[in-house]
Amino acid sequence: MSENTGRLVRIALAGNPNAGKTSLFNALTGAHHKVGNYPGVTVEKREGSRARGDKEYRFLDLPGIYSLTAYSLDEVVTRDCLLDEPPDLILDVLDSTNLERHLFLCLQFQELGIPVVGALNMSDEAKAKGIEVDGTALGKLLGIPMARTVATNGQGLDALLDLVDASVSGNAVDGRSLDYGSEIEALLGPIEKAIAEDADFASRHPPRWLAVKLVEKDEDAFARLEAHREAGKVAVLAKKASDWIGRHFGKDSEIVISEQRYAYIHGACLEAVKRKEKGAPSLSERIDRVVMHPVFALPFFIFVLWGIFQLTFSIGAWPMAWLEAFFGWLSAQVAAIVPMGPLHSLLIDGVIAGVGSVLSFVPLIIILFFLLSVLEDTGYLSRAAFATDRILHGFGLHGQSIFPLMLGFGCSVPAIMSARTLKSPRDRILTVLAIPFMSCGAKLPVHVLFAAAFFPKNPAAAVLAVYGTGVVLALVSSLVLRNTILRGEPTPFVMELPPWRAPTLRGLLWHVGEKTATYARKAGTVILAASILIWAVTNFPAYSPTATERQSAAATWSKAHPGADQAALDRGVAAALAGKALSASAAGSFGHLIEPLIRPLGFDWRVGIATVTGFAAKEVVVSTFGILYGVGTDDGGSTSLRAKLAADPSWSPLAAISLMLFVLLIPPCFAALATLRAELGWSWLGFSIAFQLAIGWLVAFAVFQVGTRLGFS
Ligand code: GDP
Ligand code: MG
Repeated sequence: MSENTGRLVRIALAGNPNAGKTSLFNALTGAHHKVGNYPGVTVEKREGSRARGDKEYRFLDLPGIYSLTAYSLDEVVTRDCLLDEPPDLILDVLDSTNLERHLFLCLQFQELGIPVVGALNMSDEAKAKGIEVDGTALGKLLGIPMARTVATNGQGLDALLDLVDASVSGNAVDGRSLDYGSEIEALLGPIEKAIAEDADFASRHPPRWLAVKLVEKDEDAFARLEAHREAGKVAVLAKKASDWIGRHFGKDSEIVISEQRYAYIHGACLEAVKRKEKGAPSLSERIDRVVMHPVFALPFFIFVLWGIFQLTFSIGAWPMAWLEAFFGWLSAQVAAIVPMGPLHSLLIDGVIAGVGSVLSFVPLIIILFFLLSVLEDTGYLSRAAFATDRILHGFGLHGQSIFPLMLGFGCSVPAIMSARTLKSPRDRILTVLAIPFMSCGAKLPVHVLFAAAFFPKNPAAAVLAVYGTGVVLALVSSLVLRNTILRGEPTPFVMELPPWRAPTLRGLLWHVGEKTATYARKAGTVILAASILIWAVTNFPAYSPTATERQSAAATWSKAHPGADQAALDRGVAAALAGKALSASAAGSFGHLIEPLIRPLGFDWRVGIATVTGFAAKEVVVSTFGILYGVGTDDGGSTSLRAKLAADPSWSPLAAISLMLFVLLIPPCFAALATLRAELGWSWLGFSIAFQLAIGWLVAFAVFQVGTRLGFS
């Protein structure tokens, strides 16, 4: 299937998780895909290309794997890609600081019969640790050309690509390969030959690789063998071989085979890798002693999260105030230019009120994402996984679930996809169902708006309380599901700890830049469109008050404001009539229709509109309030939405908390629901929606009703 037309070279970047494959891919192709200092960042394959000389290289970035036997969905992606659409070359990205372990996979790639080139990546870290790898010598010993690289700054790429060129044109080092010893080789030979007899099959299944896998009793290999013309005959040969090895060596054949591989690797490394004697514990080890302390690790993690929120709010408050002032000013400018009428209303009450109210939160989002990226890139998140493993386990979740769950603070879409790294389907379903409880970045504006309006003294604490409730509910609901429809034990958690790393500025800027771009794109598309739509349904059908209605409004207003002048009276009447118009509009009628459902939660019809529009994107909840409160208070946009909410008697701090929880807990936006369906199918989507609706309603109901009884309001 390989389509090598002489110029186009298809190269798969493969290797263990967290070796720097995506970093290398980005460096080679100029792409900006997400890298992170923990396994499971890449769950889908991605393509990119690069021209060099007369060749065009097409690179494939694959999810990390530990072996070619796939367990989890992301590993299946890699295995199927390498076996079913073999590339012209496998570029194995190896972590030089952890070479013996990474070479284990490398030797299996070699057995696929595709040229392999090794990138001895992280060579900067290896050097710092006193590990000196002689790439040329190692390459000769293993029969795999190798070059040292530093993916994060592009060092060594040219030499690496030279090796790639030499390999695809067949001029690489001579094709030595791992020898399992004469006894095992004598058994492998006939199996390879029997496989090769079905030429068509053998062209899709490298005989050497399959023979070894069969002797290792690999289930997937036996499943693939089914397609062979004489599957039965080959299977018998393979079974006989594993039995013989088992008897002869006194241990399972797969253990014997791995030991052979390790021994071979160890021998090669003894010759080609020099290590300086280890002195005092490294800085990394010393930091680990503190942050992974059996008792203090968890409090430390909670402290870190709390610190992130405090920082986000204290730094974010300034730019937020500037942006609010800017949009107030903009609205006044537009008001001065555009004459009164539908266009005036559309621009000021629709577009600026809707999009502007959301854009004011951009600085906050940027700060939060910047800080969360630091957690990911330094390697702290992986330590947090250890700290929280016991707790997650107690609630029936898998320790590795911490990565998708933490990603959920950003956006549910990638978070739900990253749950693919969980091997057991139950663990995965449970994690996906818990993700929407993690308050995503788009819900942050809603929380901040209401916290700032109703808890002006300590908005960060109010928001943190809402986030905390989400986390607790994620855990409790997992426990419930684990004991009802998803019965079973979470699978054990084994993970390697990535080293501490100073985050690269470039990496951080990418993360933040990408997030900001997504946000801005959303503001210009979904949020803009939703704002115009909401403006339309709040302004139509048009309402024209009769003379009697006008008079009665004026009378009511004068009674409430005795001694006011004519201008104030005119404004008051206009506001009262606009309120009526809103109530009579299409959106108003709809809001009134669903009001009975949400009244017990402390909300009026306006919240009904906002929660429904929030399915487009959660920020739209804020836009909706911006528009609803823009209409009827014709102040040229000079008063911030926050101030308008705080001044509205139909709200109270209790209702505000109830709303924040309601928005947090009801089903996520469309995009997240679509991802959930793609990952788990329609039935789980239906379940998740019903589950979230029920929990969202019940929690808001309980908070508001109990709070009211206790006298908070
Ligand atoms: P992948 O899981 O193999 O795709 O690995 P990533 O590309 O996501 O990288 C994992 C982590 O290692 C990230 O924090 C990278 O910034 C870091 N990294 C990758 N290559 C190098 C390197 O050559 N040197 C150093 N010091 N860090 C690297
Ligand atoms: Mg990756």
